[in-house]
Amino acid sequence: MENIKKYDSDLYDIIKREENRQENNIELIASENFVSKPILEAAGSILTNKYAEGYPNRRYYGGCQFIDEAEQLAIDRANALFGSEHANVQPHSGSSANLGVYFALLRPGDKVLGMNLSEGGHLTHGSPVSISGSYFNFSHYGVDPKTELIDYDNVYEIAMKEKPKILLAGASAYSRKIDFKKFKDIADEVGAIFMVDMAHIAGLVAAGLHQNPVEYADIVTSTSHKTLRGPRGAFILSNKKYAKKIDKAIFPGTQGGPLEHIIAAKAIAFKEASTEEFKKYQEQVIKNAKVLSETIINNGIRIVSGGTDNHLVLLDVSSIGLTGKDAEHMLDEVNITVNKNTIPNEKLSPMVTSGIRLGTPAMTTRGLVEEDMEQIGNMISDVLLKRKENSEIKNSVKEIVTKYPLY
Ligand SMILES: *Cc1c(COP(=O)(O)O)cnc(C)c1O
Repeated sequence: MENIKKYDSDLYDIIKREENRQENNIELIASENFVSKPILEAAGSILTNKYAEGYPNRRYYGGCQFIDEAEQLAIDRANALFGSEHANVQPHSGSSANLGVYFALLRPGDKVLGMNLSEGGHLTHGSPVSISGSYFNFSHYGVDPKTELIDYDNVYEIAMKEKPKILLAGASAYSRKIDFKKFKDIADEVGAIFMVDMAHIAGLVAAGLHQNPVEYADIVTSTSHKTLRGPRGAFILSNKKYAKKIDKAIFPGTQGGPLEHIIAAKAIAFKEASTEEFKKYQEQVIKNAKVLSETIINNGIRIVSGGTDNHLVLLDVSSIGLTGKDAEHMLDEVNITVNKNTIPNEKLSPMVTSGIRLGTPAMTTRGLVEEDMEQIGNMISDVLLKRKENSEIKNSVKEIVTKYPLY
């Protein structure tokens, strides 16, 4: 960053402070990760200079011959990785990808059935504050109040009643495997298009550790920056039937020029995700989440659904008399970064909540293994149960981040 340092010391100092924060905190936000150096380089490359409206070999600008090669590489690698027929790698974010799909397949007022935000769904799955919820007619399914697992019978009942045009599966705060086959059967029975938003679990899918939605869904959207560990962005996979509609809905439908430097970084991420090393990484992500969850349960804090099958753990901190907001703040004080989150049967507002969400992708990238996660699970419990001084916990955080440097 020598040039930033020379030209803009204000911004340089800010970036340095953020770098320092990332280096010295235990990062447990389930949707975050740390990209590789090659991905950072691609994202900071001269590809940012190029306009490339359109798609490879069908551009509205000259000089796209090399950009075409880079974007085609990303497309081919995405298809090879997930087994899809068509990939659009241009969406700037997961939200843009979902909006693009809605624009491709729905008219305003059309019906969609997705998961409740408060029980694990995403804002773009029909929340009234999102364009998805204000332009389209969403209904929602949730989890069984006892098991806190997706209630497929309930999904079926609502689908039969509502007859949605799209049945949407996928979540941001659901710690269990999702049965895409069951969703597909329901979609077929009610004549709905089946869409999956695999933003959170794309890395697990790529590694073969979660059922692959591409085998069941008509359309799959995903972010590239969560478990998949690519640059901040998204992509859409589909069968040939929807390819044209999806492409048109992203450009010119809802986006302008693609971010070709980020698309190049996605190409690297897809390459990385196809390796044996990446599979081992994802296996460790899951092992680490299991240990974290078990340790916290053993300390007497309730975990939603009683455990985890994936990269995230949802704590019910109301079980120890705290709010999510307080718990997030208490952990922040000792340099452990998490986010407050609603839990099933939530009684508090989204700004307060009864839960916190923890995820292991980022710290597993730094190299942490089961014994570290057990230690962190105990540290989190110590903070929330006020069993130890903050200074003591902060020392343990320092030890861990020093042992496993970020880059
Ligand atoms: C994170 C997420 C998104 C949105 O991604 P952004 O890049 O933040 O727009 C969409 N859907 C799900 C399920 C997510 O978890």
